[in-house]
Amino acid sequence: MAEKPGFDRRALLKGGLTVTAVGALTALPIGTASAAPIARRAANGTVAAPPQMFGTSDWGARPPSGAIVVENHKPTYIVVHHTADPGNSEDYSKEHAFEISRVIQNAHMDGNGWVDSGQQFTNSRGGFITEGRHRSIEILNGGTQHVQGANVGNHNSEVIGIENEGIYVDVDVPPALWTSLVQLVAYMASQYGVAPANIKGHRDFNATECPGTVLYGRLPELRQAVGGALGVEVREATEWPLLKPGQTGQKVLAAQHLLREQGARNVPTDGVFGPSTADAVESLSAARGLEKHSCTATMRSEERGFLGADLLPLITPAVAPGTNTEAARAAGVLANAAGVRTASLGTLNTQAWKELLSA
Ligand SMILES: [Zn+2]
Repeated sequence: MAEKPGFDRRALLKGGLTVTAVGALTALPIGTASAAPIARRAANGTVAAPPQMFGTSDWGARPPSGAIVVENHKPTYIVVHHTADPGNSEDYSKEHAFEISRVIQNAHMDGNGWVDSGQQFTNSRGGFITEGRHRSIEILNGGTQHVQGANVGNHNSEVIGIENEGIYVDVDVPPALWTSLVQLVAYMASQYGVAPANIKGHRDFNATECPGTVLYGRLPELRQAVGGALGVEVREATEWPLLKPGQTGQKVLAAQHLLREQGARNVPTDGVFGPSTADAVESLSAARGLEKHSCTATMRSEERGFLGADLLPLITPAVAPGTNTEAARAAGVLANAAGVRTASLGTLNTQAWKELLSA
C-alpha cells in the first residue's frame, strides 16, 4: 500500500523513535516541495535525508509507451551501474545531466523497445540526480513499493538501479558523482531498509563489465559510507568473480573443468580463456535461458563470453572433492590455488564454490 506523503507518526513510533528523536528528524533538510518525502529511520540507526532529485518533467522526458509497473513490495537490492556511453564528459552542468537522461530514454525506448528508461535513477558526472523511469521518485519517497525497471536481466523485480554517467574500467569517478551516489544510495537504503551488504554492482547479477572494475572496486567503500550514514553495521558479502576472455590462471582452469562437466567437451584445460571457452559460455548461457544485459551499446560485443554471477551458480554442482568428475577436478584446482587441503573440504555447496572462486 502506498502511503500518502506526510508525517507518519505511527510508523515512526513503531520504529522506536523517542519524541526527542522525532524532533531532531524534522530538523533534517527533507526537501522543499509540498510532496516532501518522509525521512525514514533505518532498521538500526538514523535516517538519511533525500538528495535533490530532478523528475522526468524537469528534464523533458517523453511519456512512457506503456504501463509503468509498480510492484507492491520493496526492492531487495540497490544496484550500481555505469552508462559507458557516451563516455566521460567534462560537461558537469545540470543541462548536460538532463541531456543524457533524454539520450538514455531514447536509446531504451527506440533501441531496446522498452516502455521507458530502464533505470530508476541516473547520476551525472556533475552529481545531478535525475529520475529515470517515470514515478520512481514518488514511489521511492513512499518507501513501501517499487517501480519495476529494466536494468538487471532476470532480476528486475528485486532491484532498484542507478545509472552513473561514464565508464569506469580504468579511471575513477568524479568526486561530485561519488558524493551524490552516496547520498542517493543512503536515501534508498533508508527508505527501503536495505542492508549495506545488498548494495550491489550490475556484474553481481549479469555477466557484464558494468559498473566498471574501478567503480565496482569502490562498492565496499560505498557500503561503509552508507552504513556510516545510517548507523548500521556493514557486512561484506562474498561475490562470484567475473572471468573474461583473455584471462589466464587457475580460476580459468577451474571454469574450464566446470564447463566440461556441463558437456562442453571441446573446451581445453589449459587455463587460458580462449575462443572455445567463450563459445561454451555463450551456448550454455543461451541453453539456460539467461537474459543478456549490458549497460552500453558500443561495448556489447566486447562482453561476449563473459562468465560471471548468472551462469556460475548454475554450473557449480554439489560435489565431493576427490571424486572422478570434472567438477571435482575444478574444486581441486581451486582448493590447491587457495592453499586449502582438498581433504578438509566436505561436499561443496554453492557458498563454498563462491568462496573458492572468489578467493
Ligand atoms: Zn549495468
